[in-house]
Amino acid sequence: MTNLILLGPPGAGKGTQARLLAETRGLTQLSTGDMLREARASGSAMGRKVAEVMDRGDLVTDDIVIGLIEERLAAPNGKGFIFDGFPRTLAQADALGALLDRLGLTLDAVIEMRVEDEALVRRISGRFSCGTCGEVYHDRTRPTRRPGVCDVCGSTDLRRRPDDNPEALRNRLLEYYKKTSPLIGYYHAKGKLASVDGLAGIEEVAAAIARILDRA
Ligand code: AMP
Repeated sequence: MTNLILLGPPGAGKGTQARLLAETRGLTQLSTGDMLREARASGSAMGRKVAEVMDRGDLVTDDIVIGLIEERLAAPNGKGFIFDGFPRTLAQADALGALLDRLGLTLDAVIEMRVEDEALVRRISGRFSCGTCGEVYHDRTRPTRRPGVCDVCGSTDLRRRPDDNPEALRNRLLEYYKKTSPLIGYYHAKGKLASVDGLAGIEEVAAAIARILDRA
């Protein structure tokens, strides 16, 4: 069983690598961002509560995301979990540690994906994805083969995130440096941290992550 956290700023490629790891290793991707977007789409009370906060690029409250993770961890998975976009604060990291202890699970690795700010802005400002299968594209670096049609599943439901705009992105980066980046020191002190160069190509990053997991 392998449980790992992907840590990094918005646009570092956490979601892309989490999807690959889910495919290649059968791990379950737990993305709090995806869960919150699903809650919004379902129109639930919680979804309505977080919508504005997310669109501004602020973090939603710890109790909401901890609750979401707690629910998902209760469903057993023999292979392990990838935490993608969680934890994002020290309180969330402590809560995750307590939850894993309670369930008798261990955290095998925390992988920091390092990407400089200019590259994050470039990546995020052209990003769109398929609303049906989740495949991620980019206007310049990875357009769909046929305009408006997903290469993978043929859906025409291609979407941009409302928080992938310059103003919200500035805020998301600020939130990252202020509240999430202290987790790098936190997990380093626990002897769990490894770093990869998130600017490398998708396959190269995947290979670097595989090397870390295979020796974890
Ligand atoms: P993401 O898809 O990971 O970029 O998350 C999108 C947005 O959802 C973030 O900008 C936050 O508003 C919210 N969010 C996702 N995960 C968390 C988390 N662990 N803690 C607080 N807010 C979160």
